[in-house]
Amino acid sequence: MCGAPANQVDHVVPGDDHSDANLQALCQWCHTHKSSSEGGTAAALTRVRTDKPKPAHPALED
Ligand SMILES: [Zn+2]
Repeated sequence: MCGAPANQVDHVVPGDDHSDANLQALCQWCHTHKSSSEGGTAAALTRVRTDKPKPAHPALED
């Protein structure tokens, strides 16, 4: 996804579909952020917004 070496397998559509078409390789950083956004969307709507900057992807830094 980002060009960093992948060490995680992610479900493209979260659920019980473990077919190759629904799996993709991600690095740990991308997987963590994708999964946390999937699980946190509903909760985020009720959460007070903070203006913390998003951490930069390690593979995209100099
Ligand atoms: Zn990545």
